[in-house]
Amino acid sequence: MPELPEVETIRAQLAPRLEGRTLTSVEILDPRLTRPYDLFEVAEELEGDVVLAVERRGKYLVLRLESGLALLVHLRMTGGFGFTPRTHERAVLQLDDGSRLAYRDVRRFGTWLVLESPDIEPYLATKNGFEPLSRRFTVAWLAFRLAARRAPLKAVLLDQRVVAGLGNIYADEALWRARVNPLRPANGLGAAEVARVHRAIRAALRAGIERQGSTLRDYATPDGAEGSMQDEFRVYGRDGEPCPRCRTTISKTRASGRGTWFCPRCQPLAADVLR
Ligand SMILES: [Zn+2]
Repeated sequence: MPELPEVETIRAQLAPRLEGRTLTSVEILDPRLTRPYDLFEVAEELEGDVVLAVERRGKYLVLRLESGLALLVHLRMTGGFGFTPRTHERAVLQLDDGSRLAYRDVRRFGTWLVLESPDIEPYLATKNGFEPLSRRFTVAWLAFRLAARRAPLKAVLLDQRVVAGLGNIYADEALWRARVNPLRPANGLGAAEVARVHRAIRAALRAGIERQGSTLRDYATPDGAEGSMQDEFRVYGRDGEPCPRCRTTISKTRASGRGTWFCPRCQPLAADVLR
């Protein structure tokens, strides 16, 4: 569930509290977290190391360590960090300033993977395309990727190798902003539509980051605060409500198995050659 804006919010809060700190003790409480690797071996690898930087790549949090190792955390559905003890803790980090950082995960789909330095960038590059808020994510590159696929546009946008960090919520929000139907074949978009989708993806993600992500179910920032983006969704989860742009009732459908919200008037299914 956490997408780029939520992971970025977590990264921004963890960075000042983790960077420069030694992991004096690492306790991993759930073998699923490090599978197929042994939880005790992973904990031992991390213990005593110093966090140099907390970065994000797509939906991955990347803790770069002084030894050259990196801890890649993927939160999946319900993973998160907190400095105050909570239920469903799956790992606990003790820091040399006395603070205690717990990783919690109700549904236990999150993963912790420790990689050695030559393996870090290749691993992240196979899982993630360009960062959508970076200069490398251009209209031309997005057009090239969409032109290669006949699948519904939304399914292609959810592919992390096309738009790193984009998930169900921000894909719907972006397509509403772009006025493009999520079920259109990806390779059927005109140049102007691709340009709108490109701009809309960036705008939707930036709006999410500004509001510290969206709080649905189990997401909370490490400070224990909740994001506020959910109050500003234009279409996501709003079936039966009026479109904020044209007042038409928002519809719900499915795209690649995911609930998908759109405005049938602003985002018509039939391709219009004039659009
Ligand atoms: Zn509308």
